[in-house]
Amino acid sequence: MEKKNIDWANLGFGYQKTDMRYVSNYKNGVWDGGGLTEDDKVVINECAGVLQYAQTCFEGLKAYTTEDGHIVTFRPDLNAKRMADSAKRLQMPVFPEERFIEAVERVVAANEAYVPPYGSGATMYIRPYMFGTNPVIGVKPADEYQFRIFTTPVGPYFKGGVKPLTLRVCDYDRAAPKGTGHIKAGLNYAMSLYAIVTAHEEGFDENMYLDAATRTKVEETGGANFIFITKDNKLVTPKSSSILPSITRRSLMTVAKDYLGMECEEREVYFDEIKDFAECGLCGTAAVISPVGKIVDHGKEICFPSGMTKMGPVTKKLYDTLTGIQMGRIEAPEGWIKVIK
Ligand SMILES: *Cc1c(COP(=O)(O)O)cnc(C)c1O
Repeated sequence: MEKKNIDWANLGFGYQKTDMRYVSNYKNGVWDGGGLTEDDKVVINECAGVLQYAQTCFEGLKAYTTEDGHIVTFRPDLNAKRMADSAKRLQMPVFPEERFIEAVERVVAANEAYVPPYGSGATMYIRPYMFGTNPVIGVKPADEYQFRIFTTPVGPYFKGGVKPLTLRVCDYDRAAPKGTGHIKAGLNYAMSLYAIVTAHEEGFDENMYLDAATRTKVEETGGANFIFITKDNKLVTPKSSSILPSITRRSLMTVAKDYLGMECEEREVYFDEIKDFAECGLCGTAAVISPVGKIVDHGKEICFPSGMTKMGPVTKKLYDTLTGIQMGRIEAPEGWIKVIK
């Protein structure tokens, strides 16, 4: 398979059209057989449920070329399960989990020429999503839906080296205690845009959201979960029913315990205690871990001892181990790596 002539190392994180995408439609209570298409356009009614009442959810995962030349994805079964949970909460039909995994496999294989080579630092981003397609004007769930997956090659996240982030404690809330924070709904992102744009205008990289009920506990950022490392080498991560269960974060907890012999705590984390942590990182598929150097609470700075120039030593070990597993350099736990070809 000849790869496309792409400057992999200088790719950004943006959409680039690839050859094929997967589409399946839901109508009269059933999903059709689905299949690959070259057509990158979605044509839906002007009154489609997704356009009026935002009935849509999505997933995000990656395909990698391993050291020995295989194309693999990382724990796609967890994305399938999470999308099923998102669909249920939004009153949408579940796209069967086995079919989700098979569709990921087919669309990646069909776009093999766009999967970045091993060592380039680039990866292929995979975006499954679904939305209500038929006209809905009285508020109710749509009856018809489309499930799609497209892929796009994305560049190395830490181009020009790792740079620890500066966060601000956000005055807006991301998720209500019994709202939709735990699912991957487009609506969670729509309402975070104002907060992230103003954060950027003020010179911050991300928002740290606190729990909406008491504003005393750490939740997450707009698109990544927190991990903290204590001074005695424990991994601590916030527990809350309104956090999106990051697959990267869950995987890092296993890596910490089983590969690095660390203790892990998933528990409520009070904002007042973060000044005592040694390291802080954000976890998600895009970057795996982005180190956080500083958190600013209305002018009051909390600076982690790991500093503003590099990843902290424990964060780095976690990062190296998980990316080593993903790239096939380190043996993976059973079932984590799905070989596509
Ligand atoms: C997608 C997402 C994450 C990261 O999840 P991963 O499965 O690790 O990619 C974290 N927080 C939010 C709000 C998200 O939408």
